[in-house]
Amino acid sequence: MKICRAVAAIAFLSAAPVMAQDLPAFVNGQLPGLVDIYKGLHAHPELSHHEEQSSALLAGELRKAGFSVTEHVGKYPDGSQAFGVVAILKNGAGPTLLIRADMDALPIIEETGLPYASQVKTKNASGQEVGVMHACGHDIHMTSMIGVARSMAAMKGQWHGTLMLIGQPSDETIDGAKAMLADHLYERFGTPDMAIALHDTNRSAAGTLSITPGASQASSTSVDVTIRGIGGHGSAPQAGKDPIVMAAEFIVQLQTIVSRQEDPHDLTVVTVGDIHGGTKRNIIPDEVKMELTVRTFTDKSLNIVLDGIRRTAQGVALSAGVPEDRAPIVTILKDESAPVNYNNPALTMRVKSTLVKTMGAENVIDATPIMASEDFGVFGLEGHRIPTFMFWLGAIDPVKFAAAEAEGKSTPGLHTSRFQPVPELTLRTGIVAMTSAAIALLQN
Ligand SMILES: [Zn+2]
Ligand SMILES: [Zn+2]
Repeated sequence: MKICRAVAAIAFLSAAPVMAQDLPAFVNGQLPGLVDIYKGLHAHPELSHHEEQSSALLAGELRKAGFSVTEHVGKYPDGSQAFGVVAILKNGAGPTLLIRADMDALPIIEETGLPYASQVKTKNASGQEVGVMHACGHDIHMTSMIGVARSMAAMKGQWHGTLMLIGQPSDETIDGAKAMLADHLYERFGTPDMAIALHDTNRSAAGTLSITPGASQASSTSVDVTIRGIGGHGSAPQAGKDPIVMAAEFIVQLQTIVSRQEDPHDLTVVTVGDIHGGTKRNIIPDEVKMELTVRTFTDKSLNIVLDGIRRTAQGVALSAGVPEDRAPIVTILKDESAPVNYNNPALTMRVKSTLVKTMGAENVIDATPIMASEDFGVFGLEGHRIPTFMFWLGAIDPVKFAAAEAEGKSTPGLHTSRFQPVPELTLRTGIVAMTSAAIALLQN
């Protein structure tokens, strides 16, 4: 992978100290080089657990910006090393602020048609060939972080304390933040007083930010279900127990957990995103494997769903006459689950008032909670001990966004093959907003 390192190096020349009112001009000066970095990252995405080149590029840029950088921070439960990046800039006495950017991409074939679209293909964990795409915009996050690092270094006279920048691997598999903490992140580098992050979105136009105080993103719980039957000849179903038919019944019944068992006030989603069973049309297979994701905002609704999944699987097997030793297997994957993302209300309001001043009230939008999940909240530790806050960064070309809205449509969203952030305006807004927030928080 060749990500325009030379261009980036030329674009960043450390200059005279920058004053707060000069921040937009400073960022504008950095933008051409940053857009090149962004396009390089976009064209060379890497899947979760494999962020080797992206993390190396981020680490190199943060080092050039004057930070003390440690790479390969993070340990997964299987003992493998993660590609986490920790960059520290100490600037006298004061609070420690953690800012996080995630780095991983998704197994999606890009269909934006952009000149810098990803052509990357790789094998996923099951050995299937997949495309790879920055369809969640983590390339925007990494590039914004480089811009923030440069801005904060140039504006050292405006803040005091310690800035801890985190390049986080494996957000999409929601085990990256946990891996960094398991590798003693806070013991080695200090415990932050607060943590903030941004995430791009197609729900608002570039140039805007949106904010949800309190619970802003649902918890995510990963569940594997194996429906076991008894295989046989496709022409003789009476001699076996068909797990494909049972899986079909199970999937349809699952949705009644949400619609008939949950309180309608409790937002809940259950999705079967992956299903595998069988090898040939005339063979009844032995089993069908499914991967589910469950999204909820409370433990109560999560427990209703998990109990419902177990009962539904058992009920389907029972009614098909599956023997007990072939009962369904339901496994909850703790390592691939994330808690509710909770925006600490006081921290949210503090940052919001800064963003309103810096970006203009008309560009700071109130947003409702969503069912997508994040592992950023993991940096806040159990019980939200460290206040955390994440804001949404509008990423869609304002003209295209307005045209879609006028037609009552939405632009292609996160995790789709046509998600297309507009680089310049999105990056400029993200860097100015995040730098202003960081400076405001690093004052006392
Ligand atoms: Zn994502
Ligand atoms: Zn994301």
